[in-house]
Amino acid sequence: MKVRDCLTSVAQGTPADRLDREVMLAHVLGKTRSWLYAYDDDLLEPVQVEGYQQLLQQRQSGQPLAYLLGYRDFWDHRFVVSPDCLIPRIETELLVERCLECLPKDQPCQILELGTGSGAIAISLALERPDCQIVATDASASALALARHNAHQLSAEQIDFRLGDWYAPVNQTSFDLIVSNPPYIRSDDPHLLRGDLPAEPSQALVAGIDGLDAYRQIIPGSLGYLSAHGSLLLEHGHDQRADLISLCQDAGFKQIEIHDDLSGVPRVVIAGRG
Ligand code: GLN
Repeated sequence: MKVRDCLTSVAQGTPADRLDREVMLAHVLGKTRSWLYAYDDDLLEPVQVEGYQQLLQQRQSGQPLAYLLGYRDFWDHRFVVSPDCLIPRIETELLVERCLECLPKDQPCQILELGTGSGAIAISLALERPDCQIVATDASASALALARHNAHQLSAEQIDFRLGDWYAPVNQTSFDLIVSNPPYIRSDDPHLLRGDLPAEPSQALVAGIDGLDAYRQIIPGSLGYLSAHGSLLLEHGHDQRADLISLCQDAGFKQIEIHDDLSGVPRVVIAGRG
């Protein structure tokens, strides 16, 4: 079978299917997607065709592309992912962007990330701000192992990874910035049955009947760990803007801003004592 023949079968289906399939074929061949088009006359080894078809089958049975490939690109980096962690989302780059804007430019800062998963947020911040110290927690030992692996691979050595629920493993109390992309989906949300979500750890997705359980711990809890001028930055769901504002106000935050993601969806709350 030639590359072209695989690409022809790729031509069927939606554009998303096509992109996924090109990525899988390129992955099996160890080439880029543009290589597939430049060398579409090349003959594939039977083992390559077999590898491709195996991936295709797993993808069709609902396995997320990121888990099949074993990585997901986020910010400027490639993160190893597995079913032990949430797959980093492009919209979460807004959280990283806003964190970098909130951090004072001219002084080393202390950052706390809660529920680090693959480590994508903490590591992206660490690589942008090597002068900052970061503590990153997660309640899942296997997710934390993945985060440690990613930090090591990407040479982000200044992160102190700690196992435990939210603030439980944290023994330092004056962070300039606390950041989290916690679980925020309602337990009966039909989205949990679509796309990649059924394959992802529900611990990283679901937060009680109204999706706010994690915020109820993180938001009031943050006051015991934030410095006087520190900021709390949280990703939230598309319809949780008002809930997040109320929770931050109830906790005593005076300065509260909501930021939209690139699709114009309210996505990040920034709270400070004011
Ligand atoms: N943004 C993700 C989604 O809706 C959920 C991630 C999360 O709960 N933090 O698929």
